[in-house]
Amino acid sequence: MISGIPTDIRSLTLPELKIKLTELGEKPFRANQVYEWLWKKSAHQFDEMSNLSKSLRQTLQQHFVINAIQVVDKQVSADRTIKSSFKLHDGHLIEGVLIPTEDRMTACVSSQVGCSLTCKFCATGKMERIRNLTPDEIYDQVVHIRNWANQHYQMPLTNIVFMGMGEPLLNYNNVLKSIEKITGEDGLHMASDRITVSTAGIAKMIKKLADDEVKFNLALSLHAANDTKRNQIMPINESNSLDEVLDALAYFKSKTKGKLTYEYIAFRNFNEDITDARELLAICKKVPAKINIIEYNPIGDGLFSKADSTKIDQFQKYLERNGVVATVRRSRGKDIDAACGQLANKS
Ligand code: SF4
Repeated sequence: MISGIPTDIRSLTLPELKIKLTELGEKPFRANQVYEWLWKKSAHQFDEMSNLSKSLRQTLQQHFVINAIQVVDKQVSADRTIKSSFKLHDGHLIEGVLIPTEDRMTACVSSQVGCSLTCKFCATGKMERIRNLTPDEIYDQVVHIRNWANQHYQMPLTNIVFMGMGEPLLNYNNVLKSIEKITGEDGLHMASDRITVSTAGIAKMIKKLADDEVKFNLALSLHAANDTKRNQIMPINESNSLDEVLDALAYFKSKTKGKLTYEYIAFRNFNEDITDARELLAICKKVPAKINIIEYNPIGDGLFSKADSTKIDQFQKYLERNGVVATVRRSRGKDIDAACGQLANKS
């Protein structure tokens, strides 16, 4: 406890917890039991820790808190997508989504409250960035969404994408710590290659991922294939030009085994033409990646609209004819504002 504020117990490593419990007169091995409850068993109350004595549970209660997130609103879309608002211990709201398909259950999680990058097409970008999420707040989203996959669709969670609210690479340490717990034997033990972190393109941090030899996949929110157009919709491009980002991605590919994807939202009268596809092809020749062409979901500000379906098909076919794997992703969860770019805590 620091000056009367109880410590968030999940901010402690196992060795730190051992020291704290020893200071409180407990045997160090008790820390292993508590740690297992906190992570592997995802307990959100000390009272759930049924193999601990009542007095130890009371001691924990007096000295620590578990800053668990709470589900405040849960909506199920006609296409079975589930979106929830989660309330953080300090009252802020974030959102997470379960995207079910026939063979996959994908959790889309947030990494920050709001976002500082102000991408013009994104509802989150219209909110200010309030704070970074802690590793346990990210972990809790995965646990809740994993439970919905089991309860609603009787399927295990298969994939995780960091594509919710916030720029994950601007919350680098906490995102990596959360992934360590999601993949760790002391946590959810999920496979790293089922995790994709999505970035708006921060070259320096992409290089750091490479130097840290991470084992997960990376997606670049590309959305425009030249600097002039990208500057118009993603201000981050002004300080991280496409060439700098592509160099960083090439470095990432050379140092890790992670797969690379370019996310490309197709906007009407902006980036849907064959001339755009040609520029995108040049990018793929420089740094190869799979392309997801995403249908745009208007966010009510009238700035952009959905690209023409025929043009999207021509765009995709052009890329495929030229040897690039390109998939068109139709929107999911549009009716509950859960689709890509729509997360903004309307509730
Ligand atoms: S698209 Fe991502 S990086 Fe851009 S404003 Fe939205 S949440 Fe932030």
